[in-house]
Amino acid sequence: MITVGINGYGTIGKRVADAVAQQPDMELAGVAKTRPNFEAEAAVRNGYPLFAAIEDRMPLFEEAGIDLAGSVTELVEKSDVVVDACPSGVAAQNKSMYEEYDTPALYQGGEDADLVDVSFNARGNYSAAAGASHVRVVSCNTTGLSRLLAPLQEQYGVEKARITLVRRGGDPGQTSRGPINDILPNPVTLPSHHGPDVNTIFPDLAIDTLGMKVPATLMHTHSVNVTLESTPTAEEVRDRFAEESRLFLIPERLAIDGAGKLKEFAHDAGRPRGDIWENCLWEESISMEGNDLYLFQAIHQESDVVPENIDAIRAVTEQADARESISTTNESLGIGL
Ligand code: NAD
Repeated sequence: MITVGINGYGTIGKRVADAVAQQPDMELAGVAKTRPNFEAEAAVRNGYPLFAAIEDRMPLFEEAGIDLAGSVTELVEKSDVVVDACPSGVAAQNKSMYEEYDTPALYQGGEDADLVDVSFNARGNYSAAAGASHVRVVSCNTTGLSRLLAPLQEQYGVEKARITLVRRGGDPGQTSRGPINDILPNPVTLPSHHGPDVNTIFPDLAIDTLGMKVPATLMHTHSVNVTLESTPTAEEVRDRFAEESRLFLIPERLAIDGAGKLKEFAHDAGRPRGDIWENCLWEESISMEGNDLYLFQAIHQESDVVPENIDAIRAVTEQADARESISTTNESLGIGL
């Protein structure tokens, strides 16, 4: 059994904790929280041992009637791997703590690539994380792009990828984010950070990315153009994508016209929190013009990195190869819409 601790129990951390608890080869050592808010109560309700992320704040939990299992250093000490899901920048400050206890750590996409030994995507470079001490699971958008580009590069060769990312302004719980009534080129300058981030997984891939932000919370949407080195038909590309376990091809008959219906679909399918771990590609958007591939895909920012964190845990502990890990993760979570 791999013992896993989660430091930072917010949007990503709580989902990774639930996923760890579902794995046949992992046990959840506990989760660390800074304050006794609604998410701390949820952790207690789920029966997860709760640790104080900041020692001075332990009395706050006591006052709220929440029993603590200890402080974060105890969690780190008893874990084989820690998943750090703290806000961007905070995780970097935790690195020395993980080093002190000699505990391998996974960080999230908000951290700089140079904080870690390797940036990770299960489909893209699983084996690169073997035995690493500090691994960054790339962001939701980079995860979505890596899953899409890996089979294209392997099967057809990629001459150049050009992607426009229409990004949600914030997550549903992020009441202070925006815009609330605007459409922002973001960043205005090129490239957006996503292209260089994809290059942390595929160093030689030619990719240009542009970013926008819109008043939405549900999902990101990517407008994709990839110039291929060969000329498959659109149907061949669709069939190739259909073989990928974390790409969901939205059939036309479902009449799903956007992120709202996709989320409804996920809720109706009984997905926890309406999560969609897979990239969602509109099947009929997949088109070839010469050797240019075009398509639209939507990415559920709150959950697509969850299976990737689970695979990264097995990769750093060298407990399974990519195929085995992806298959165990998919089966235990119920991936495949
Ligand atoms: P979040 O704000 O929802 O959760 C972070 C949690 O960490 C909060 O509960 C916060 O109270 C807690 N925290 C703050 N300081 C802490 C500390 N010192 N010790 C322990 N816990 C602390 O953030 P999130 O959206 O889950 O993002 C976490 C990371 O995941 C970031 O790097 C982010 O870029 C990345 N990420 C986020 C998304 C997304 O869409 N939300 C998608 C992919 C990757």
